[in-house]
Amino acid sequence: MEKLAINGGEPVRKQKIFYGRQWVTEEDAKAVSEVLTSNFITCGPKVEEAERMLERYTGAKHAVVVSNGTAALHCACIAAGVGPGDEVITTPLTFAASANCALYCGATPVFADIDIETYNISPASIREKITDRTKAVVAVDFTGQAVQLDEIRAICDEFNLVLIEDAAHSIGTSYKGKMVGSIADITTFSFHPVKTVTAGEGGAVLTNDDDLYKKIVLAHAHGITRDDDLMEEAPHEGPWYYEQISLGYNYRMTDFQAALLISQMSRIESFKARRQEIVKKYDEAFKDEPAIIVQKEIPESDTCRHLYIIRLDLDKLNCTRAEFFNAMSAENIQCQVHYVPVYFFPHYKRLGYKQGLCPNAEEVYKGIMSIPLYPMMSDQDVEDTIHAVKKVEQFYLK
Ligand SMILES: *Cc1c(COP(=O)(O)O)cnc(C)c1O
Repeated sequence: MEKLAINGGEPVRKQKIFYGRQWVTEEDAKAVSEVLTSNFITCGPKVEEAERMLERYTGAKHAVVVSNGTAALHCACIAAGVGPGDEVITTPLTFAASANCALYCGATPVFADIDIETYNISPASIREKITDRTKAVVAVDFTGQAVQLDEIRAICDEFNLVLIEDAAHSIGTSYKGKMVGSIADITTFSFHPVKTVTAGEGGAVLTNDDDLYKKIVLAHAHGITRDDDLMEEAPHEGPWYYEQISLGYNYRMTDFQAALLISQMSRIESFKARRQEIVKKYDEAFKDEPAIIVQKEIPESDTCRHLYIIRLDLDKLNCTRAEFFNAMSAENIQCQVHYVPVYFFPHYKRLGYKQGLCPNAEEVYKGIMSIPLYPMMSDQDVEDTIHAVKKVEQFYLK
Protein backbone atom coordinates (compact mmCIF):
# COMPACT_ATOMS: atom_id res chain seq x y z
CA MET A 1 0.00 0.00 0.00
CA GLU A 2 1.09 3.59 -0.75
CA LYS A 3 2.51 5.38 2.25
CA LEU A 4 0.69 8.60 3.16
CA ALA A 5 2.65 11.83 2.78
CA ILE A 6 1.82 12.49 6.41
CA ASN A 7 3.89 9.37 7.23
CA GLY A 8 6.81 10.37 5.03
CA GLY A 9 5.52 9.10 1.66
CA GLU A 10 5.39 11.06 -1.60
CA PRO A 11 2.49 13.55 -1.73
CA VAL A 12 -0.02 13.10 -4.56
CA ARG A 13 0.81 16.63 -5.77
CA LYS A 14 3.77 18.95 -5.51
CA GLN A 15 1.72 22.16 -5.45
CA LYS A 16 -1.04 22.80 -2.99
CA ILE A 17 -4.57 23.39 -4.25
CA PHE A 18 -7.38 24.86 -2.19
CA TYR A 19 -11.06 24.02 -1.89
CA GLY A 20 -12.07 27.04 -3.94
CA ARG A 21 -10.69 30.04 -5.76
CA GLN A 22 -11.76 32.90 -7.99
CA TRP A 23 -11.01 33.15 -11.71
CA VAL A 24 -10.21 36.76 -12.57
CA THR A 25 -8.93 37.42 -16.10
CA GLU A 26 -7.02 40.31 -17.71
CA GLU A 27 -10.33 41.32 -19.26
CA ASP A 28 -11.95 41.53 -15.81
CA ALA A 29 -9.05 43.66 -14.60
CA LYS A 30 -9.42 45.96 -17.62
CA ALA A 31 -13.12 46.46 -16.91
CA VAL A 32 -12.29 47.48 -13.33
CA SER A 33 -9.47 49.83 -14.26
CA GLU A 34 -11.63 51.60 -16.86
CA VAL A 35 -14.10 52.48 -14.12
CA LEU A 36 -11.36 53.60 -11.74
CA THR A 37 -10.29 56.38 -14.13
CA SER A 38 -13.87 57.38 -15.10
CA ASN A 39 -16.11 60.03 -13.52
CA PHE A 40 -17.93 57.69 -11.18
CA ILE A 41 -16.24 55.11 -9.04
CA THR A 42 -19.38 54.65 -6.97
CA CYS A 43 -23.10 55.39 -7.54
CA GLY A 44 -22.53 55.42 -11.31
CA PRO A 45 -23.75 53.58 -14.41
CA LYS A 46 -22.08 50.21 -13.73
CA VAL A 47 -24.21 49.55 -10.66
CA GLU A 48 -27.36 50.05 -12.73
CA GLU A 49 -25.98 47.89 -15.50
CA ALA A 50 -25.17 45.09 -13.05
CA GLU A 51 -28.68 45.23 -11.59
CA ARG A 52 -30.34 45.03 -15.01
CA MET A 53 -28.00 42.17 -15.93
CA LEU A 54 -28.98 40.18 -12.82
CA GLU A 55 -32.67 40.80 -13.59
CA ARG A 56 -32.20 39.53 -17.15
CA TYR A 57 -30.17 36.54 -16.04
CA THR A 58 -32.50 35.36 -13.27
CA GLY A 59 -35.85 36.61 -14.54
CA ALA A 60 -36.43 38.49 -11.27
CA LYS A 61 -38.37 41.75 -11.62
CA HIS A 62 -35.95 43.73 -9.41
CA ALA A 63 -32.32 43.39 -8.38
CA VAL A 64 -30.36 45.65 -6.03
CA VAL A 65 -26.60 45.15 -5.74
CA VAL A 66 -25.08 45.67 -2.29
CA SER A 67 -21.72 45.59 -0.53
CA ASN A 68 -21.75 41.88 0.37
CA GLY A 69 -23.98 38.85 0.88
CA THR A 70 -24.40 39.53 4.59
CA ALA A 71 -25.68 43.05 3.86
CA ALA A 72 -28.03 41.47 1.31
CA LEU A 73 -29.48 39.21 4.02
CA HIS A 74 -29.82 42.15 6.41
CA CYS A 75 -31.71 44.17 3.76
CA ALA A 76 -33.91 41.14 3.06
CA CYS A 77 -34.87 40.84 6.73
CA ILE A 78 -35.56 44.57 7.01
CA ALA A 79 -37.77 44.48 3.90
CA ALA A 80 -39.56 41.42 5.28
CA GLY A 81 -40.41 43.46 8.38
CA VAL A 82 -38.40 41.28 10.76
CA GLY A 83 -38.12 43.00 14.14
CA PRO A 84 -37.78 42.51 17.90
CA GLY A 85 -39.87 39.60 19.19
CA ASP A 86 -40.00 37.88 15.81
CA GLU A 87 -38.54 34.48 15.00
CA VAL A 88 -36.73 33.59 11.80
CA ILE A 89 -36.29 29.93 10.87
CA THR A 90 -33.05 28.86 9.20
CA THR A 91 -30.61 25.94 8.95
CA PRO A 92 -27.66 25.42 11.30
CA LEU A 93 -25.52 24.00 8.47
CA THR A 94 -24.65 27.35 6.90
CA PHE A 95 -22.39 30.34 7.16
CA ALA A 96 -23.26 32.30 10.31
CA ALA A 97 -24.65 35.26 8.31
CA SER A 98 -27.82 33.28 7.47
CA ALA A 99 -28.75 33.43 11.18
CA ASN A 100 -26.97 36.66 12.16
CA CYS A 101 -29.29 38.65 9.87
CA ALA A 102 -32.17 37.85 12.26
CA LEU A 103 -30.09 39.00 15.24
CA TYR A 104 -29.27 42.30 13.46
CA CYS A 105 -33.03 43.00 13.44
CA GLY A 106 -33.49 42.11 17.11
CA ALA A 107 -35.23 38.85 16.17
CA THR A 108 -34.47 35.29 17.27
CA PRO A 109 -32.99 32.73 14.88
CA VAL A 110 -34.73 29.34 15.19
CA PHE A 111 -32.87 26.37 13.75
CA ALA A 112 -34.74 23.73 11.76
CA ASP A 113 -32.97 20.45 11.06
CA ILE A 114 -31.63 19.32 7.69
CA ASP A 115 -32.42 16.39 5.45
CA ILE A 116 -29.80 13.74 6.21
CA GLU A 117 -29.13 13.04 2.50
CA THR A 118 -29.36 16.41 0.70
CA TYR A 119 -28.12 18.46 3.71
CA ASN A 120 -30.72 21.13 2.87
CA ILE A 121 -33.25 22.43 5.40
CA SER A 122 -36.08 19.94 5.90
CA PRO A 123 -39.59 21.27 5.14
CA ALA A 124 -41.04 18.96 7.83
CA SER A 125 -38.66 20.42 10.40
CA ILE A 126 -39.57 23.99 9.35
CA ARG A 127 -43.21 23.14 10.01
CA GLU A 128 -42.38 21.82 13.49
CA LYS A 129 -40.52 25.00 14.43
CA ILE A 130 -43.25 27.48 13.49
CA THR A 131 -44.80 29.50 16.33
CA ASP A 132 -47.05 32.58 16.54
CA ARG A 133 -43.88 34.67 16.39
CA THR A 134 -42.41 33.22 13.20
CA LYS A 135 -42.00 35.95 10.59
CA ALA A 136 -39.70 34.56 7.91
CA VAL A 137 -37.77 31.53 6.69
CA VAL A 138 -34.18 31.94 5.48
CA ALA A 139 -33.69 28.85 3.31
CA VAL A 140 -30.09 28.25 2.21
CA ASP A 141 -29.38 26.47 -1.09
CA PHE A 142 -26.57 24.49 0.52
CA THR A 143 -23.61 23.83 -1.85
CA GLY A 144 -25.72 25.33 -4.68
CA GLN A 145 -28.55 22.77 -4.73
CA ALA A 146 -31.96 24.43 -4.52
CA VAL A 147 -33.99 23.72 -1.40
CA GLN A 148 -37.40 22.07 -1.83
CA LEU A 149 -38.93 25.37 -2.89
CA ASP A 150 -42.46 24.13 -3.65
CA GLU A 151 -42.85 22.49 -0.25
CA ILE A 152 -41.35 25.47 1.60
CA ARG A 153 -43.47 27.92 -0.43
CA ALA A 154 -46.61 26.04 0.59
CA ILE A 155 -45.64 26.21 4.28
CA CYS A 156 -44.84 29.93 4.04
CA ASP A 157 -48.19 30.61 2.36
CA GLU A 158 -50.08 28.59 4.97
CA PHE A 159 -48.52 30.50 7.89
CA ASN A 160 -48.09 33.86 6.14
CA LEU A 161 -44.27 33.85 6.32
CA VAL A 162 -41.82 35.66 4.08
CA LEU A 163 -39.60 33.25 2.16
CA ILE A 164 -36.02 34.50 1.90
CA GLU A 165 -33.73 32.29 -0.17
CA ASP A 166 -30.07 32.62 0.83
CA ALA A 167 -28.63 31.82 -2.59
CA ALA A 168 -25.02 32.72 -1.74
CA HIS A 169 -24.08 29.28 -3.12
CA SER A 170 -26.59 28.95 -5.92
CA ILE A 171 -26.41 31.68 -8.55
CA GLY A 172 -26.81 29.81 -11.84
CA THR A 173 -29.00 27.07 -10.36
CA SER A 174 -32.55 26.54 -11.59
CA TYR A 175 -35.46 24.82 -9.83
CA LYS A 176 -38.07 23.16 -12.07
CA GLY A 177 -36.78 25.28 -14.94
CA LYS A 178 -36.98 28.63 -13.10
CA MET A 179 -33.78 30.44 -12.21
CA VAL A 180 -32.91 30.94 -8.56
CA GLY A 181 -33.48 34.64 -7.91
CA SER A 182 -36.94 34.68 -9.48
CA ILE A 183 -38.67 32.22 -7.14
CA ALA A 184 -38.66 33.17 -3.44
CA ASP A 185 -40.18 36.39 -2.05
CA ILE A 186 -36.62 37.68 -1.66
CA THR A 187 -33.38 36.05 -2.85
CA THR A 188 -29.86 37.04 -1.81
CA PHE A 189 -26.55 36.43 -3.60
CA SER A 190 -22.93 36.77 -2.44
CA PHE A 191 -20.05 37.73 -4.71
CA HIS A 192 -17.25 36.85 -2.30
CA PRO A 193 -14.20 35.52 -4.22
CA VAL A 194 -14.88 31.92 -3.27
CA LYS A 195 -18.45 31.99 -4.66
CA THR A 196 -19.37 31.26 -8.28
CA VAL A 197 -18.90 34.83 -9.57
CA THR A 198 -17.08 37.56 -7.69
CA ALA A 199 -17.07 41.32 -7.26
CA GLY A 200 -14.25 41.21 -4.70
CA GLU A 201 -16.86 41.71 -2.04
CA GLY A 202 -20.47 42.08 -3.11
CA GLY A 203 -23.99 40.83 -2.94
CA ALA A 204 -27.44 41.30 -4.42
CA VAL A 205 -31.06 41.26 -3.28
CA LEU A 206 -33.73 40.17 -5.77
CA THR A 207 -37.52 40.24 -5.65
CA ASN A 208 -40.58 40.25 -7.91
CA ASP A 209 -42.54 42.40 -5.45
CA ASP A 210 -42.62 46.19 -5.98
CA ASP A 211 -43.26 46.90 -2.32
CA LEU A 212 -40.41 44.76 -1.05
CA TYR A 213 -38.16 46.30 -3.71
CA LYS A 214 -38.78 49.84 -2.40
CA LYS A 215 -37.92 48.72 1.12
CA ILE A 216 -34.73 47.00 -0.04
CA VAL A 217 -33.60 50.14 -1.91
CA LEU A 218 -34.17 52.26 1.20
CA ALA A 219 -32.46 49.77 3.52
CA HIS A 220 -29.26 49.65 1.41
CA ALA A 221 -28.84 53.43 1.10
CA HIS A 222 -29.51 55.20 4.40
CA GLY A 223 -33.31 55.16 4.08
CA ILE A 224 -32.87 58.16 1.76
CA THR A 225 -35.04 58.80 -1.29
CA ARG A 226 -35.52 61.38 -4.05
CA ASP A 227 -38.67 59.64 -5.27
CA ASP A 228 -41.59 62.12 -5.30
CA ASP A 229 -44.04 59.33 -4.56
CA LEU A 230 -42.17 58.38 -1.39
CA MET A 231 -41.17 61.79 0.00
CA GLU A 232 -43.41 62.98 2.79
CA GLU A 233 -42.77 66.71 2.98
CA ALA A 234 -43.73 67.98 -0.46
CA PRO A 235 -43.65 70.52 -1.97
CA HIS A 236 -39.93 70.92 -1.49
CA GLU A 237 -37.62 73.81 -2.05
CA GLY A 238 -35.37 72.73 -4.90
CA PRO A 239 -33.70 69.99 -6.89
CA TRP A 240 -31.07 69.30 -4.19
CA TYR A 241 -33.73 68.07 -1.82
CA TYR A 242 -33.93 64.49 -0.65
CA GLU A 243 -35.47 62.87 2.40
CA GLN A 244 -34.53 60.21 4.86
CA ILE A 245 -37.82 58.42 5.45
CA SER A 246 -36.59 55.33 7.33
CA LEU A 247 -33.44 54.06 9.01
CA GLY A 248 -31.13 52.51 6.44
CA TYR A 249 -27.46 51.63 6.06
CA ASN A 250 -24.66 52.31 3.63
CA TYR A 251 -24.59 48.94 1.91
CA ARG A 252 -23.91 50.21 -1.62
CA MET A 253 -21.64 48.44 -4.09
CA THR A 254 -18.99 50.56 -5.86
CA ASP A 255 -18.98 50.94 -9.64
CA PHE A 256 -15.64 49.20 -10.05
CA GLN A 257 -16.97 46.18 -8.15
CA ALA A 258 -20.05 46.25 -10.38
CA ALA A 259 -17.77 46.30 -13.44
CA LEU A 260 -15.99 43.18 -12.17
CA LEU A 261 -19.35 41.53 -11.53
CA ILE A 262 -20.63 42.32 -15.05
CA SER A 263 -17.44 40.98 -16.59
CA GLN A 264 -17.62 37.80 -14.47
CA MET A 265 -21.32 37.29 -15.21
CA SER A 266 -20.54 37.15 -18.93
CA ARG A 267 -18.74 33.84 -18.21
CA ILE A 268 -21.21 32.29 -15.74
CA GLU A 269 -22.45 29.66 -18.18
CA SER A 270 -18.93 28.34 -18.74
CA PHE A 271 -18.28 28.43 -14.98
CA LYS A 272 -21.44 26.42 -14.44
CA ALA A 273 -20.62 23.89 -17.15
CA ARG A 274 -17.12 23.28 -15.77
CA ARG A 275 -18.39 22.97 -12.19
CA GLN A 276 -20.98 20.44 -13.33
CA GLU A 277 -18.34 18.50 -15.26
CA ILE A 278 -16.11 18.24 -12.17
CA VAL A 279 -19.04 17.25 -9.93
CA LYS A 280 -19.87 14.45 -12.38
CA LYS A 281 -16.30 13.13 -12.27
CA TYR A 282 -16.30 13.21 -8.46
CA ASP A 283 -19.71 11.55 -8.17
CA GLU A 284 -18.57 8.82 -10.54
CA ALA A 285 -15.29 8.33 -8.65
CA PHE A 286 -16.80 8.19 -5.16
CA LYS A 287 -20.20 6.56 -5.60
CA ASP A 288 -18.92 3.04 -4.83
CA GLU A 289 -16.26 3.93 -2.29
CA PRO A 290 -17.01 2.10 0.97
CA ALA A 291 -16.35 4.97 3.40
CA ILE A 292 -17.34 8.00 1.29
CA ILE A 293 -20.92 9.25 1.17
CA VAL A 294 -21.83 11.70 -1.61
CA GLN A 295 -24.50 14.38 -1.31
CA LYS A 296 -27.88 13.34 -2.73
CA GLU A 297 -29.20 15.41 -5.62
CA ILE A 298 -32.88 16.17 -6.18
CA PRO A 299 -34.07 16.06 -9.81
CA GLU A 300 -35.92 19.41 -9.47
CA SER A 301 -32.62 21.29 -9.12
CA ASP A 302 -30.30 21.89 -12.09
CA THR A 303 -27.44 22.75 -9.81
CA CYS A 304 -24.54 25.10 -10.35
CA ARG A 305 -22.50 23.57 -7.55
CA HIS A 306 -20.48 25.89 -5.32
CA LEU A 307 -19.02 23.22 -3.01
CA TYR A 308 -18.30 19.53 -3.32
CA ILE A 309 -18.64 17.78 0.00
CA ILE A 310 -17.52 14.28 0.87
CA ARG A 311 -18.99 12.77 4.00
CA LEU A 312 -16.86 10.16 5.74
CA ASP A 313 -18.50 7.04 7.12
CA LEU A 314 -16.35 7.14 10.25
CA ASP A 315 -17.58 3.72 11.44
CA LYS A 316 -15.66 2.21 8.53
CA LEU A 317 -12.44 4.15 9.10
CA ASN A 318 -9.63 3.89 11.63
CA CYS A 319 -9.25 7.66 11.84
CA THR A 320 -10.99 10.82 12.92
CA ARG A 321 -12.25 13.44 10.49
CA ALA A 322 -9.34 15.66 11.58
CA GLU A 323 -6.81 12.91 10.77
CA PHE A 324 -8.37 12.43 7.32
CA PHE A 325 -8.35 16.20 6.77
CA ASN A 326 -4.70 16.52 7.82
CA ALA A 327 -3.71 13.58 5.62
CA MET A 328 -5.37 15.36 2.66
CA SER A 329 -3.38 18.53 3.49
CA ALA A 330 -0.17 16.51 3.50
CA GLU A 331 -1.09 15.29 -0.01
CA ASN A 332 -1.32 19.02 -0.87
CA ILE A 333 -5.11 19.05 -1.17
CA GLN A 334 -6.33 21.76 1.18
CA CYS A 335 -9.91 20.94 2.19
CA GLN A 336 -12.29 22.95 4.38
CA VAL A 337 -15.34 22.09 6.47
CA HIS A 338 -18.66 23.73 5.61
CA TYR A 339 -19.87 24.36 8.22
CA VAL A 340 -19.59 24.17 11.98
CA PRO A 341 -23.30 24.29 12.97
CA VAL A 342 -24.03 27.94 13.73
CA TYR A 343 -25.37 27.30 17.24
CA PHE A 344 -22.12 25.55 18.27
CA PHE A 345 -20.36 28.94 18.32
CA PRO A 346 -19.74 30.70 21.66
CA HIS A 347 -21.87 33.70 20.67
CA TYR A 348 -24.87 31.45 20.11
CA LYS A 349 -24.14 29.34 23.20
CA ARG A 350 -24.26 32.52 25.28
CA LEU A 351 -27.67 33.24 23.74
CA GLY A 352 -28.85 29.90 25.17
CA TYR A 353 -28.65 27.52 22.19
CA LYS A 354 -27.70 23.96 23.19
CA GLN A 355 -26.12 21.00 21.39
CA GLY A 356 -28.65 18.37 20.39
CA LEU A 357 -31.03 20.90 18.79
CA CYS A 358 -30.70 19.52 15.23
CA PRO A 359 -29.52 15.88 15.35
CA ASN A 360 -29.21 15.41 11.57
CA ALA A 361 -27.09 18.54 11.12
CA GLU A 362 -24.85 17.50 14.02
CA GLU A 363 -24.47 13.98 12.62
CA VAL A 364 -23.66 15.20 9.10
CA TYR A 365 -21.24 17.81 10.45
CA LYS A 366 -19.11 15.09 12.12
CA GLY A 367 -18.07 13.53 8.81
CA ILE A 368 -18.01 16.26 6.17
CA MET A 369 -15.26 18.07 4.33
CA SER A 370 -15.21 20.11 1.14
CA ILE A 371 -12.70 19.07 -1.52
CA PRO A 372 -11.49 21.42 -4.29
CA LEU A 373 -14.13 22.63 -6.74
CA TYR A 374 -13.61 25.66 -8.97
CA PRO A 375 -13.76 26.13 -12.74
CA MET A 376 -10.05 26.87 -13.16
CA MET A 377 -9.14 23.36 -11.94
CA SER A 378 -7.38 21.30 -14.61
CA ASP A 379 -8.33 17.68 -15.30
CA GLN A 380 -5.06 16.76 -13.59
CA ASP A 381 -6.12 18.71 -10.46
CA VAL A 382 -9.40 16.79 -10.42
CA GLU A 383 -7.62 13.45 -10.86
CA ASP A 384 -5.11 14.29 -8.13
CA THR A 385 -7.94 15.12 -5.75
CA ILE A 386 -9.72 11.85 -6.50
CA HIS A 387 -6.45 9.96 -6.11
CA ALA A 388 -5.73 11.63 -2.74
CA VAL A 389 -9.21 10.93 -1.35
CA LYS A 390 -9.00 7.26 -2.33
CA LYS A 391 -5.43 6.93 -1.08
CA VAL A 392 -6.27 8.33 2.35
CA GLU A 393 -9.50 6.35 2.52
CA GLN A 394 -7.76 3.07 1.61
CA PHE A 395 -5.05 3.71 4.18
CA TYR A 396 -7.52 4.17 7.02
CA LEU A 397 -10.15 1.64 5.93
CA LYS A 398 -10.92 -0.88 8.68
C1 LIG B 1 -20.84 33.54 1.80
C2 LIG B 1 -22.16 33.37 2.43
C3 LIG B 1 -22.89 34.43 2.98
C4 LIG B 1 -22.32 35.80 3.19
O1 LIG B 1 -21.81 36.40 2.08
P1 LIG B 1 -20.67 37.53 2.20
O2 LIG B 1 -20.68 38.11 0.82
O3 LIG B 1 -19.39 36.83 2.54
O4 LIG B 1 -21.11 38.51 3.22
C5 LIG B 1 -24.18 34.19 3.44
N1 LIG B 1 -24.71 32.96 3.41
C6 LIG B 1 -24.02 31.90 2.93
C7 LIG B 1 -24.69 30.57 2.90
C8 LIG B 1 -22.73 32.07 2.45
O5 LIG B 1 -22.05 31.01 2.00
